[in-house]
Amino acid sequence: MELSHLALVCAAIAFSSIFVVSQAGITSTHARVSEPSEEMSLETFPPPAGYNAPEQVHITQGDNAGRAMIISWVMPLNEDGSNVVTYWIASSDGSDNKNAIATTSSYRYFNYTSGYLHHATIKKLEYDPSKSRSRCSLHIRYYSDLGQTYASNQTLYNYMSNPKGQAVLFVGDLSYADDHPNHDQRKWDSYGRFVEPSAAYQPWSWAAGNYEIDYAQSISETQPFKPYKNRYHVPYKASQSTSPLWYSIKRASTYIIVLSSYSAYDKYTPQNSWLQDELKKVNRSETSWLIVLVHAPWYNSNNYHYMEGESMRVTFEPWFVENKVDIVFAGHVHAYERSKRISNIHYNITDGMSTPVKDQNAPIYITIGDGGNIEGIANSFTDPQPSYSAFREASFGHALLEIKNRTHAHYTWHRNKEDEAVIADSIWLKKRYYLPEEETA
Ligand code: FE
Ligand code: ZN
Repeated sequence: MELSHLALVCAAIAFSSIFVVSQAGITSTHARVSEPSEEMSLETFPPPAGYNAPEQVHITQGDNAGRAMIISWVMPLNEDGSNVVTYWIASSDGSDNKNAIATTSSYRYFNYTSGYLHHATIKKLEYDPSKSRSRCSLHIRYYSDLGQTYASNQTLYNYMSNPKGQAVLFVGDLSYADDHPNHDQRKWDSYGRFVEPSAAYQPWSWAAGNYEIDYAQSISETQPFKPYKNRYHVPYKASQSTSPLWYSIKRASTYIIVLSSYSAYDKYTPQNSWLQDELKKVNRSETSWLIVLVHAPWYNSNNYHYMEGESMRVTFEPWFVENKVDIVFAGHVHAYERSKRISNIHYNITDGMSTPVKDQNAPIYITIGDGGNIEGIANSFTDPQPSYSAFREASFGHALLEIKNRTHAHYTWHRNKEDEAVIADSIWLKKRYYLPEEETA
């Protein structure tokens, strides 16, 4: 297969922290006009025509620094040459073509056998030399819990209709195959075809959600994350991680740490040790913004999945405050919520101090689980709205973070509404490390 126009764009995320005053938060009662969260059929996404045609193409950053890209695709047959990616500089005449050889695998799941899954890493991509990492601007889109319903389709195409997005950070729950009998693996294939119009052309980086576990003892499928790990590769070794479920990447002026809610994280576990070392590596003069992705939210005032992120919050939150993490993005809850800048790290069992308090060194927590999957919207918020919650709404949509410079970023949340993406929530963020001032929406 051949991929042209693969130029690695300088991607810098700058994070600023949000500071929200202790006024009452907003529970939006917007009445959504949206496509239903009913599943699109398998027939909606047939395999492409043509002999041994490559399909489900997706690209993701292929190293820690942003000079490599992993190209992934699926083919029905494993033939000579079908594992080669040919690439060239977009402006060239094709005389300097290079080849990258893919790893090839296939997996079985119950009564399903996958096609041949190819992953090739192209390396030594060139930056725009006129831009230094620390000064790069970047537009990053966020969503999660996408699935493959008519509402998911609306979310994806709203995103694609806005040319501002340069990369996607996806916070888990991809295909929802396990909502179907025997975790119907054909839904992983249809999902790959569904997102290809975006994921083949700009890098999506992945965090794993509970729908990626695919653990099903009743059908003897007991290897957690088997389909996900086979289909979606990430550059975890480049950040000295021992698992694709937690890793980091740098994009322009942003350092992005991906964690796994569904892997051990207590003291002495690999993920815990890795994160401790990882936070020491972040050089804020190079990557001034620090963002964390984790599937299960720590601050969530929806009745769905309430408190599921609590034990991880207790484990890691002091480190996030100490290291001035700018934003934590989560999914899982199928609604939208943005927290104030708060922390809850003083509780020690006997002191009774277990209330979140305003904290200008703390991240803002954004739950962006509103991609539009088969389970529908999570429309039951706790009442009254807790003081840590700044804005919440039970609608589908996605978020955009525009890193402007070393100190400021503009964050917006776009609700799906009919055929256009409407901005429903926005805030100017100030980076915690350099400008820990209070922010207002
Ligand atoms: Fe979900
Ligand atoms: Zn989930």
